[in-house]
Amino acid sequence: MVPAPVAGAGRRIGMSTIIAEPGETTFAGDTAAARTLETLAFEPIQSSLPAPFQTRLAVTPLVGAHLASFDADAARLIDLDPAQVQRPEFVAYLNGERPWPGAEPSAMVYAGHQFGVYVPQLGDGRAISFGQVRNARGELWDLQSKGAGPTPYSRFADGRAVLRSTIREYLCSAAMHALGGPTTRALAIVASSEPVVRESVETGALVLRMAPSHIRFGSFEFFFHRGQHELVRTLADHVIAHHCPAFARRGGEGGQPDYAEWFGDIVERTARMIAHWQAVGFAHGVMNTDNMSIHGITLDYGPFGFLEAFDAGLICNHSDEGGRYAFDNQPGIGYWNLACLAQALTPLLEVDTLKAMLARYEPAYSGRFLALMRAKLGLTAARDDDLDLVRELFAQMQHSRADYTIVFRRLCDLGASGGPRASAQVRDLFLDRERFERWGARYRARVLEDSGSETFDDPARAARMRGVNPKFILRNYLAQTAIEAAQRGDYAEIGRLLHLLQHPFDEHPAHESYAALPPDWATGIAVSCSS
Ligand code: AMP
Ligand code: MG
Repeated sequence: MVPAPVAGAGRRIGMSTIIAEPGETTFAGDTAAARTLETLAFEPIQSSLPAPFQTRLAVTPLVGAHLASFDADAARLIDLDPAQVQRPEFVAYLNGERPWPGAEPSAMVYAGHQFGVYVPQLGDGRAISFGQVRNARGELWDLQSKGAGPTPYSRFADGRAVLRSTIREYLCSAAMHALGGPTTRALAIVASSEPVVRESVETGALVLRMAPSHIRFGSFEFFFHRGQHELVRTLADHVIAHHCPAFARRGGEGGQPDYAEWFGDIVERTARMIAHWQAVGFAHGVMNTDNMSIHGITLDYGPFGFLEAFDAGLICNHSDEGGRYAFDNQPGIGYWNLACLAQALTPLLEVDTLKAMLARYEPAYSGRFLALMRAKLGLTAARDDDLDLVRELFAQMQHSRADYTIVFRRLCDLGASGGPRASAQVRDLFLDRERFERWGARYRARVLEDSGSETFDDPARAARMRGVNPKFILRNYLAQTAIEAAQRGDYAEIGRLLHLLQHPFDEHPAHESYAALPPDWATGIAVSCSS
């Protein structure tokens, strides 16, 4: 496999504004982005699926709904002029107070393995898709309102999402995208005054999230385990026709879609997604098969966390008592989940074929992970012992509980003529300084060999490294600060954080504190499945 560059490196995503002044967020000369809420190019293809796959229904309006935040970059994805988001109709459409022209709202059924146990009936219990919008580049984006009220799949729950969890999902999907990871996106948060009961009484909110589709591994498992094998095929054909046309009628028998290559592609995408999580230090928290996207994108941000003080066994979900979804279990769980999907696809493919495709997981994972880690270390060529170099650094970070993001960001300064001060700044993050010096010497030698140069200082390498090692990540306490302000009705912090997270590789000198070690109170934050 050709080592892929770190996606997102040095990328400038462009304008992004939250509750912008009127007129601030227009697309000068960008006609594709000039669509209004009423002229969005809805092509509700999901509703072309027969009834057992989804139920048509409307959003149940929240009381006192109002716009809390929006992401102009996400608006651009559906060619929507961001100024439109500030029209009162936007909230009215999202909140089901008015039918959205062109939309055909519906909720989908699915099942899933939750913490290893098969649960035969799940589904969009609190999410309603308005339909799919095709942008000028031909991409499809399913617009889904999460927290939209009860659906036939709500089981005994209220169909709502609290403000706290929508803020976390909204911010983290933007952060993941800016870090170069495949992910759902989020257009806006609508807050409300409607009481929603969790451990305490909170308020309900909606997040409008977007993905090619929100179809999950569990969508296939639902029909397979009910013995409705023809519907597994219908769903696969639907996904291939609308989202992966490259696999339609290629190598398959009798002009059938190439199910084998399609599954192989899902395997590789999933492997690459998880490699990216491991490289940026992201723990998803609830890798149930109903939270695994068929498109290999990060889906359902709940009790996630980023590595701060390095802990390979980080369990970020307070409800995950056994640590099934601990940080270092993620690559193995990804494979386990794909095996569940493989089982659900046995009506379409021979077991040997499925196994052959599953075997693509490990090389796809390792290839991407190593490519990302080399980029983080500023290396351009591959060497066999690179994994060992990375492992030793991880072992030392674990021993010292060094902050993952800060270590890598400081490593960038080593080559930027920072001299002994830069070296000391990294070394001081480690308890066993001599051991770190030994690693440092090995790293220097490796860099010199890689560059073919006599001198270690190399501003170009340092700049390259700063383009892949973020200065800003969504630390739990930063999210918590934005959440507490929002709960008091002040949404400005969400906007500030969004801006930093969308440009995580830039210096933002005015916001140095957001890149610092978390304060002591941060260790007390517990995040659970409750949302
Ligand atoms: P999650 O843990 O958020 O991935 O949710 C697992 C399942 O429970 C999904 O089918 C959700 O739609 C459903 N669910 C979670 N919270 C609620 C809620 N408040 N109301 C209805 N369904 C919910
Ligand atoms: Mg879910």
